[in-house]
Amino acid sequence: MTYGGVEAGGTKWVCAIGDGPAGLLDTVTFPTTTPDETIARAAGFFGGNGELAAVGVGSFGPIDVSRGTITTTPKAGWGNTALVDALRHELHVPVAFDTDVNASALGEQRWGAAAGLETFCYITVGTGIGGGGMANGKLMHGLLHPEIGHIRIPHDRERDPFEGVCPYHGDCFEGLASGEAIRVRWSRPAEELDDEAAWELEAEYLALGLVNVVCTLSPQRIVLGGGVPKRPTLLPLVRRRVQALLAGYLDAPELGEGIDGFIVAPALGDRAGVLGAIELARTAV
Ligand code: ZN
Repeated sequence: MTYGGVEAGGTKWVCAIGDGPAGLLDTVTFPTTTPDETIARAAGFFGGNGELAAVGVGSFGPIDVSRGTITTTPKAGWGNTALVDALRHELHVPVAFDTDVNASALGEQRWGAAAGLETFCYITVGTGIGGGGMANGKLMHGLLHPEIGHIRIPHDRERDPFEGVCPYHGDCFEGLASGEAIRVRWSRPAEELDDEAAWELEAEYLALGLVNVVCTLSPQRIVLGGGVPKRPTLLPLVRRRVQALLAGYLDAPELGEGIDGFIVAPALGDRAGVLGAIELARTAV
């Protein structure tokens, strides 16, 4: 069977048709403009590609999984967008819906860095910070869905007087450690930032966020995706700071000698989201 997957991001949408990493038949990427135009473009791509069994969507948010909508997003024009209804109306197939990070988590569990695990987190650090994952073999949902990007972390204003960029909270995790926070604090994007002290500060914030996740959810592994962790020196710094902040309290080899295999890059790279969306579609049938 052939499935459609959509990684619906706030900047761009990636759509793909296929059944897995080895069987991607066609993909397309286009910018996120208005809801009507963007959804129509996705529908046009899938509609012109034969019979699909189902379509999966991993979306930026916040979203309401049960109603299939994007809810309170600060992205202009996208508040209260009935994404699932619109796609179903155009394509006449089942449409599965979840957060972009839960879709990536599912992709990594099916084919990548979280294979065989039942409880793990996928955290992306890009323009924003998002986190999802599985608990006991099921994608994490609850009252809404995890919003790991908006947890509060200690902010030493002497070391870093920056106010933070989150429109809701200022200096939450995303407000201090996202790619956008780096860009505004240092007046240059992360790809062009070469100041070691700046990267040590970034590692400190990421480690503080990850330690909270480790202590609350007890994941068997954390997959750290997105553009910011592509900086080669960052993951080793984060791992070391996570160990220092945990201070030996949690007794597991994964947090000691095995830390390199505990905080890892996604095996599917930038394709985790769209491949996870294809897997979401499969689970919807
Ligand atoms: Zn926030």
